[in-house]
Amino acid sequence: TPIRLHDYRPPAWSVETVELDIDLGIDATEVSSRLTLHCDPQQPATLRLDGEGLELLSISLDGRKLDTHEYRYEQSVLEVSGARDGSVLETHVRVRPAANTTLEGLYLSGSREHGFLLTQCEAEGFRRITFFPDRPDVLARYTVTLRADRSRFPVLLAGGNPAGSGELADGRHWARFVDPHPRPCYLFALVAGRLESIQRDYVTADGRKVKLVIWSEANVIDCCHYALDALERSMRWDEHTYGRSFDLDVFHVVATHDFNMGAMENKGLNIFNAKYLLADPDISTDDEYRAVEAVVAHEYFHNWTGNRVTCRDWFQLSLKEGLTVFREQQFSADMNSAALKRIEDVALLRRTQFPEDAGPLAHPVRPAEYREINNFYTATVYEKGSELVRMVAGRLGQEGFRRGMDLYFERHDGQAATIEDFLAALGDANHINLSSYLAWYSQAGTPRLHAKGEYDEVEHTYTLTLSQQTRPTPGHVEKAPLPIPVKLSLFDRHGQMLPLHLDGEAHGTEKVVVLSKPTQRFVFQHVPSAPVPSLLRGFSAPVVLECDYTPDELALLLTHDADGFNRWEAGQQLAMLAFDTLRDGDDSIANKAWRQALAALFEQDAIDDALLADLLTPPGEIEFADRQSEVDPAKIHAQRQAMQHRLAEEIGVDALVARYRALAAHTGAPELDAANQARRRLKRRVLELLALLDAEQAYALAIRQYDSASGMTDRLAALSVLVRHRAPQAATALVHFRKRYADNPLALDKWFTVQAQVPGEPALAIIKHLESDPSFTLKNPNRARSLLGAFASGNPSGFHRMDGAAYQFLAERLAQLDALNPQIAARLATAFNGWQRLEPVRRNAARQALEGLAQREGLSPNLSEIVGNVLQR
Ligand code: ZN
Repeated sequence: TPIRLHDYRPPAWSVETVELDIDLGIDATEVSSRLTLHCDPQQPATLRLDGEGLELLSISLDGRKLDTHEYRYEQSVLEVSGARDGSVLETHVRVRPAANTTLEGLYLSGSREHGFLLTQCEAEGFRRITFFPDRPDVLARYTVTLRADRSRFPVLLAGGNPAGSGELADGRHWARFVDPHPRPCYLFALVAGRLESIQRDYVTADGRKVKLVIWSEANVIDCCHYALDALERSMRWDEHTYGRSFDLDVFHVVATHDFNMGAMENKGLNIFNAKYLLADPDISTDDEYRAVEAVVAHEYFHNWTGNRVTCRDWFQLSLKEGLTVFREQQFSADMNSAALKRIEDVALLRRTQFPEDAGPLAHPVRPAEYREINNFYTATVYEKGSELVRMVAGRLGQEGFRRGMDLYFERHDGQAATIEDFLAALGDANHINLSSYLAWYSQAGTPRLHAKGEYDEVEHTYTLTLSQQTRPTPGHVEKAPLPIPVKLSLFDRHGQMLPLHLDGEAHGTEKVVVLSKPTQRFVFQHVPSAPVPSLLRGFSAPVVLECDYTPDELALLLTHDADGFNRWEAGQQLAMLAFDTLRDGDDSIANKAWRQALAALFEQDAIDDALLADLLTPPGEIEFADRQSEVDPAKIHAQRQAMQHRLAEEIGVDALVARYRALAAHTGAPELDAANQARRRLKRRVLELLALLDAEQAYALAIRQYDSASGMTDRLAALSVLVRHRAPQAATALVHFRKRYADNPLALDKWFTVQAQVPGEPALAIIKHLESDPSFTLKNPNRARSLLGAFASGNPSGFHRMDGAAYQFLAERLAQLDALNPQIAARLATAFNGWQRLEPVRRNAARQALEGLAQREGLSPNLSEIVGNVLQR
């Protein structure tokens, strides 16, 4: 049965202090816990604690060992009779890290001989370590003592301030950590093993001396410097932008190759998937460098938005995740190009969140119910959640938002809060009622914003009629109108912005109007000629804009808007129009307008290289599919290729080659500055376009680029062009890459991914062949994702074969994976989302595969929830 938001009750039992004594071993670890309990007098109840798969060795209450009839441990719940307010419960349990393949709770990363122990508790992993009320609204103060063999586990870490360490008999040692800040148990972490570190002293804005330490296995410690710099930048930025400083004497960050998610913000001891911490020119692309900076910042920012103020229950997950994604987006925009960051984030939202909102897995940013919380760490909670914060922040303005955040921290520091609390604090600090935005949190589905403009030549007025509509989502047919902030400008036919007059007031050239009803009209006065509206500037609300632009109007915006994001957005809309009108390979007016506008921009050489690269990239296959009711992924792929082919023709071989050579002449050492990153990005795009037009020349350039590359960005770009086109030179390059990076898991992941994304028919055979590579394993999440995830979610034309063979194949792998790691299996299964909108042949094949999977015995709650929801059972 699902858990429901409306059933929330405060905890009957909470915990004031926790003392953990952990005796670490690879096969068996023993955990002694001492909890001082508090009972809510309003809710007298038997003491119940969560505990999953724990081997209970002993239990005592208030110093007295309990008899077997005084407690019961069944179905993941420990019931203890006789506890009262102030009681002390002591338990002693054994857990088995090496046998734990779920990567939740305490587990082993790497081999038994050389690996290390670590934990992952969010959302409900702490119950796999000891008995506890495993819910985020139970905040306690932790003292953690670790004991272990010194030679096998020279490094012992837990979150909090160091509070002593020393020797024990038999070559063992101990270390203690005390965290003065009350926290929920999902923020508990420990790490133990042979690790190296780099460190730096840091002084916070409020004068605290903090040691920043990054830990990894010895062979990659040299790849941690970039992350350490990024951490320092994040800390300064949060002090400067939000007035928030770090609050412990030491901040540890640890890298592991075995991790279910990106990273985890455990208090004082962040743990990272190595993919988001290690950075080195030889193994990391430019995109990955930026991802490392972003994830380091995200996890650090959680210290205030997540840890100091945490969530009352898991329905409020977006309270910390949406807000922290937003803070990271602001930070990354400040550190890099704001326009490029916005483009990247909007593209991500459309590629991952819009399909979620449009299919059987649709759920509100604050879901009303769930079975398995791990299935709700979604693009909706994270990415759409961030867009909701962005709308509210936009409404309040920079200073108003800061005032609101200050009040939020002042009111809720040390508490477990709700989304209502958040909106109330932001609103109260600004004397504004923001409660209308709550509807955004509780309603699934992407609103469609329809816009229609009418110009009155006599009155010189321009009437903009905006209306909104949200389609039904599973189980929710009725949709309420939402407050939609629409940032807009008007352009004249020469591409000049017009001054805006609304309701008799002048507003400069850009203005936000808020549509809060189903339909509203906005009348602009003193408009000298029929304008072209630029709507939803900066993507001011997470909606789908429907506006009957002519191709010329979009081309005008694409050519003249000074703002990089808006220019890109006009280009994307024009490309959509071009795609829709490009039936069966025929050309269209829109397609002509799109490629001619781009070819002209290409020639001018006046645009930033990175922006130009983005402009030259049409929306992805998933975005095109999202607009269709009978999806044929092979056809979408072919049509998108045809568009790009025509674009390449329009630019011309000579111009492409000349630009490529000019860019290549300028890229030597893998410098990370914006200009060099931008050159590499455009160089890749130019090479991709050239490959559509003059394959031989492109392959020759690609192989030269591969051989002479001084960093991974150039090397992988070249390899990808060769592999995707199945160039004759691809095989040699792949063999070379495989050898060169044989000992580097992060680079090898890319080797799998680049091959998993060969479009169309050949992909499945390639995947099956790659599974027999000795380095392939389902046990490592990054590796499983790099092959199966890249195929099923990142290669629509390869995965959606007419014969359904890839559906059967994935279903089989999901069942195998589920037995090892249910979280990863459930995540990969979301590749089936959207199957109902496939054309009938594929739809039937997908249904069969899904039904077969659903009927298997012993599926995890994680996977069966996703499969059940996808099938709409
Ligand atoms: Zn997060």
